[in-house]
Amino acid sequence: MALLVQKYGGTSVANLERIQKVADRVAESRSKGNRLVVVVSAMSGVTDGLLRMARGLHAEPSEREMDLLLATGEQTTTALLAIALQGRGIAAVALTGAQAGIVTDGTHTKARIANVTPAAVQAHLRAGQVVIVAGFQGQTMQGQITTLGRGGSDLTAIALAAVLKADRCEIYTDVDGVYTADPRTEPEAAKIGEISYDEMLELASTGAKVMQARSVEFAKKFGVVFEVRSSFNRARGTLVKEEAKSMERVVVRGVSLEKNQAKVTLVGVADRPGVAAKLFSGIAKAGINVDMIVQNIALPAEGKKAQTDITFTVPRDELSKVRRYLEPFRRAGGARGILYKEGVAKLSVVGIGMRSHSGVAAQLFRALAAARVNIQMISTSEIKITVVVDEEAGPRAVRAAHREFRLGRRG
Ligand code: ADP
Ligand code: ASP
Ligand code: MG
Repeated sequence: MALLVQKYGGTSVANLERIQKVADRVAESRSKGNRLVVVVSAMSGVTDGLLRMARGLHAEPSEREMDLLLATGEQTTTALLAIALQGRGIAAVALTGAQAGIVTDGTHTKARIANVTPAAVQAHLRAGQVVIVAGFQGQTMQGQITTLGRGGSDLTAIALAAVLKADRCEIYTDVDGVYTADPRTEPEAAKIGEISYDEMLELASTGAKVMQARSVEFAKKFGVVFEVRSSFNRARGTLVKEEAKSMERVVVRGVSLEKNQAKVTLVGVADRPGVAAKLFSGIAKAGINVDMIVQNIALPAEGKKAQTDITFTVPRDELSKVRRYLEPFRRAGGARGILYKEGVAKLSVVGIGMRSHSGVAAQLFRALAAARVNIQMISTSEIKITVVVDEEAGPRAVRAAHREFRLGRRG
């Protein structure tokens, strides 16, 4: 009897009708003789709704209480799915993250899984039950409820598949696989048959929210092969797995866009050892998540001490925290001035084939120039090129890159 871990995302359990549809699929899988662990998300929009409610009461709600609140979303769907299955005469049990043995560290709202104790899940499986587990949540050793960061139900599923040594791990969502670009905004996007962990990880970390980045990291570490597919149709999905030689033939696998970013430039910062260290240590301590960092070369004016400019990006909603930290830094003489720019986005092209192909960056820049997209910042890694562009130009930039690397259906 094969052991399957299936995960159903928010849209797949958005209402009772959809929950019944999920129950149909689970029942079908079960009737084929499989043992099943089913991870569910909250109904779509519920997590956002809970966040809004809390923020309506307090601008910066305490993270411990946020976790208690957010965890209720997944508890609802877990219980409802178990009840739906029981209504069909199928033995099923609903478990919270804690009951399923998901033990995390104490970093509320983005806790890391420390270990998974699968004894309870295994006992229920042995008893012939379908085990439904609340995604996105866990518990610390001290019994505090935690959540695993947005999209964290993916992580619950991958972690359970790893410890239970599941034969298959299936991530059911509202698109039928991983596409060469977000299929909701790029109509020419094409479904990818197989993708390597590294490519999936880069795409997920740069805006392709189809998988939570941390879950992909976990899958890579523990060698969990998983399939992303639709809960609304039967189409084959995308297999995410270790890279194979043949995958390198594709230079660019996909394009992603991360919106809601902001750019911060510190003008006239002293150009001497220790300045960046001090600046970014302080920013990190303030809990701000900095991404791309660029420092210009210093051109000292005669008789003056060398100064430089430093630019970095942050998620837009961290900008107020950044200002709060940087304004005193500036007033204390840390910088001559600071420019804040909202409304920027990061476009990335990703592919392991870039390792063995040169000229990809130049090709991307040419395509963006032809589409009249201005590039504000550039960063490259072995398998990724990222550029900062105006948010308004984002979709046009995606289209240009997508066409340039012939990723579309009409390739
Ligand atoms: P779930 O609730 O099932 O976890 P998510 O909303 O988290 O689903 O992720 C699915 C969404 O990811 C899709 O609706 C799609 O708009 C978006 N997405 C972004 N980039 C991609 C991509 N490259 N391939 C597929 N989907 C993508
Ligand atoms: N409900 C959580 C979220 O919206 C977790 C998830 O859906 O994976 O982020
Ligand atoms: Mg998701």
